[in-house]
Amino acid sequence: MLEDLYQELILDHSKSPRNFGEIEDANRKAEGYNPLCGDRIRVYVKLDGETLEKVNFDGKGCAICTASASLMTEGLKGKTVTESEALFCRFHSLMTGCEQGGQVKIELGKLEVLEGVKNYPIRVKCATLPWHTFQAALSEREEPTTTE
Ligand code: ZN
Repeated sequence: MLEDLYQELILDHSKSPRNFGEIEDANRKAEGYNPLCGDRIRVYVKLDGETLEKVNFDGKGCAICTASASLMTEGLKGKTVTESEALFCRFHSLMTGCEQGGQVKIELGKLEVLEGVKNYPIRVKCATLPWHTFQAALSEREEPTTTE
């Protein structure tokens, strides 16, 4: 199972995650927890008007969670809030297999490497935790986000 999941790019991102660490001047942040796996991460966002100038994360997650967070921060950087919602929508569709209609057309890019995760329902929560946490940061929810 792990060999199927842990493709090269996922492994690379889990071993050396991009955009890892707190953003000092972040104006949005949130914490996310996945009790099924024990993933616990924080997402930091530096929002400049409607543009996501920087998106970082830190904390401790499994390989899938860390790789997903790393790929997410790369994919989100420089996007607008509207584009980030479209990207989340596409990613969620990829993970759950159900197509969601979005207003904005957007390419998943590298995030597509996580498609294999959908075959392992328990791992889907690891992969989507960073996204739910990012959304919580954007909407400035105070209480920690969980996948439950
Ligand atoms: Zn996990």
